Amino acid sequence: MIEKYHMNPTYRKLVCAGIAALAMGSGMPVTAKTIAPPPPFPAWLEALKAEAAAKGVGKATLEQALEGIKPIPRVIELDRRQPEFTLTLGSYFKNAISAKRIAIGKEMLKKHAPLLRRVFERYRVQPRFLVAFWGLESNYGQYTGVFPVVGALVTLSHDRRRATFFRQQLLAVLQLIDKGDFPLDVKGSWAGAMGNHQFIPSTYRDFAVDFDGDGKRDLWNSLPDIFASAANYLSRSGWQKDRTWGREVRLPSSFDIGLSGLETRKSLAEWNTLGVRQVNGKPLPDVAVDDASVLLPAGYRGPAFLIYNNYRTTMVWNRSHLYALAVGHLSDRLVGKGKLRADLGDANPLTRRDIFDLQRRLNALGFNAGTPDGRTGPMTRKAIKGYQRKHGIPADGFPDSKLIEHVRKQS
Ligand code: CA
Repeated sequence: MIEKYHMNPTYRKLVCAGIAALAMGSGMPVTAKTIAPPPPFPAWLEALKAEAAAKGVGKATLEQALEGIKPIPRVIELDRRQPEFTLTLGSYFKNAISAKRIAIGKEMLKKHAPLLRRVFERYRVQPRFLVAFWGLESNYGQYTGVFPVVGALVTLSHDRRRATFFRQQLLAVLQLIDKGDFPLDVKGSWAGAMGNHQFIPSTYRDFAVDFDGDGKRDLWNSLPDIFASAANYLSRSGWQKDRTWGREVRLPSSFDIGLSGLETRKSLAEWNTLGVRQVNGKPLPDVAVDDASVLLPAGYRGPAFLIYNNYRTTMVWNRSHLYALAVGHLSDRLVGKGKLRADLGDANPLTRRDIFDLQRRLNALGFNAGTPDGRTGPMTRKAIKGYQRKHGIPADGFPDSKLIEHVRKQS
């Protein structure tokens, strides 16, 4: 569900839980893709040095940064992990939006108010959002990663699974070291994400700014640089300063589930006509938003959201819906707004084994869910929708334990 290059700590925690479950021998079905063995390392490293030098990285930097470098087996292990669970909104929010995270975020918002105000004046991203991203990415700077970034990226670009992407990131990090942005032994996540907002090297290169004027872009120790860099990235990705991210809404019982999803964009006036209401029952506000979408991240039984442009921009940062909803909701909680009204649904995530079984049964019943792999992708959602339509269930394409139970009774 979440294919994210730099993981926030909440997801990381769940991934670790998944690894633990695997280690206990849950024996779940996994479709292993064959990955060709990596090329011989010494020759690969020489070619990399030549490419970096051609891109302007100084010889001394290259020799020092890559001296004695070797692939790190632990990084490959983390990259190959197969999470046991499909995260649900309920399970994700339980970790991402903890009472402690809200309390610390409120404190941070107050404590750094003058600085956040100056950053807002320059980059036009509201303080509550900057603090929410910060809380989710590194727990307000408490976790920025302990892996050597050069070593981790050498490992992942030497490996063949995502070599092209990681080679670009490795070249970017070598350029940044060469320019003096950070030291040779810079630390980050196992996948090379760095600093308080866990920027990947190319994001760091293109969007980090020196806001305290000391000549360095320091995303570990300088809060002015940290907030301004995040704001600059968001602002250049299309953030709107006078808009919120979205809101929880109430749908009429007659609502056509087929209208949910990011693809369907309508004005607030149109959604209002279709019966969409604020959670307090009032009509939607009369503002000129023309690209709002309805989302049902936990299926038709769970909460409904109406999301705006800033939600789409959050998905440029991280293309996970659960992450974008968490950023939006945390930013609301930091300024005293209440909990979501609707029940978030099952706090226990479905296992990949459950999804695998569902896919197998849907295929047998004539709804093409593709080769079972334990992940809910577009084909699986389509097959679920077909099944739901046939059985008179609102067709949200969303797998939950009730749906699985229903399918099991049919097969
Ligand atoms: Ca600085």
